[in-house]
Amino acid sequence: MTNADLHCHSTYSDGLLAPADVARRARDGGVSLWAMTDHDEIAGQREARAAAEALGMRYVEGVEISVTWANRTIHVVGLAIDSGNRGLVDGLAATRGGRDGRGRVIADRLADVGIPDAYEGALKYANNPALLSRTHFARFLVEHGYCESTSDVFARYLAEGRPGFVPHQWATLEQAMGWIQGAGGTAVIAHPGRYKYTQIEFAALFDVFRDLGGGAIEVVTGSHTPDQYREYADVARRYGFRASRGSDFHAPGEGRTELGSLPMLPDDLTPVWRDWQ
Ligand code: AMP
Ligand code: MN
Ligand code: MN
Ligand code: MN
Repeated sequence: MTNADLHCHSTYSDGLLAPADVARRARDGGVSLWAMTDHDEIAGQREARAAAEALGMRYVEGVEISVTWANRTIHVVGLAIDSGNRGLVDGLAATRGGRDGRGRVIADRLADVGIPDAYEGALKYANNPALLSRTHFARFLVEHGYCESTSDVFARYLAEGRPGFVPHQWATLEQAMGWIQGAGGTAVIAHPGRYKYTQIEFAALFDVFRDLGGGAIEVVTGSHTPDQYREYADVARRYGFRASRGSDFHAPGEGRTELGSLPMLPDDLTPVWRDWQ
């Protein structure tokens, strides 16, 4: 059985390990088919592939694109992409371009609630300054004693409805899927269990995604509970989507999921990697 881990992060976005170190952890976790999927960024793909192949893992290139759909942020993973594709490269560069300005506004909001200098602070944690993420703000707040953990920071300051949350216009679903498919890849709805949509909105999202040629959804992910594995396995069956599996690993000890450690996909689902050679 294939131990596939098709969702994780490196220092090219909001992970804490360089691609080669994530690769070693994936191999140590028993992963045989791996994709590194940094947020809105593919600059780490060559390093990841080289490291994976040196360790004897199959590698497919990946990315996790931030998308605004029905006034909320969702994430669409692109797998088996060609990271050199011009449309993808340019599209991601454009969508990344909004992050710095958003980061400055987040810092202003945090200053309003008594946390100064968060822009400079967060930037120190961002190995890739083009990819300033809320995660970098969260690490800064923890290190400076404002909160116990990064999940605490999100709950108190950075999640929707909290004082440091700044609404942002990401790529459209059509754009993100166009970039992924134009680069030869498969679009995958990441961790659907995390989105606060109504049943009607979810049904519309899955319909639109299927109409746009969307191939798969994440069923077994570090962001889902076991109940959600079952719920989204059912969605995959009903809509005819393939299923993906990934830890969403970011850093040792941060979050709950190690690379390669999640349960396997239910037997009757078609894995997203079925036709990859
Ligand atoms: P951004 O793309 O800058 O909005 O940051 C989103 C990232 O924040 C996600 O990819 C997660 O890594 C992290 N994140 C979001 N919500 C939480 C949470 N509740 N606890 C910990 N990390 C979170
Ligand atoms: Mn992240
Ligand atoms: Mn995500
Ligand atoms: Mn992720």
